[in-house]
Amino acid sequence: MKLDSLVRVNSLKLKKLQRSTSDQISLIWEDGHEGINTLKTLRDGCPCAGCQGETVLLHHYAAPAKNPSVPGMYELRGAEPVGNYAIKLSWGDGHDMGIYTWEHLRSLCECGECSGRRAKPVGETNAHQ
Ligand SMILES: [Zn+2]
Ligand SMILES: [Zn+2]
Repeated sequence: MKLDSLVRVNSLKLKKLQRSTSDQISLIWEDGHEGINTLKTLRDGCPCAGCQGETVLLHHYAAPAKNPSVPGMYELRGAEPVGNYAIKLSWGDGHDMGIYTWEHLRSLCECGECSGRRAKPVGETNAHQ
């Protein structure tokens, strides 16, 4: 049982998502954290199988190479809550398969604090909580 990680996921919750500049959004978290994400990072971090590839029976199927010239690809069209654990983002090119869990969203955070912490080995991401 990975009870410990379950508890941690549940304690993480997005409070507010707002556009800060044309290519960046700010995310306010329940724990008071104020995060920043560029739309490019969010789109590149889209967790759907089509974007990230899939690991099936230990074989990793890579996603097809991204075409950065697709119009609207990095334009955020909408954000829709999924239950109370995730948000679904839809993009200007019509892609809306990505369900970003709070944990995934937080792991993409680009604020100074998180970027600095990420320089450390994986696994210490939530050590401060
Ligand atoms: Zn952050
Ligand atoms: Zn995707």
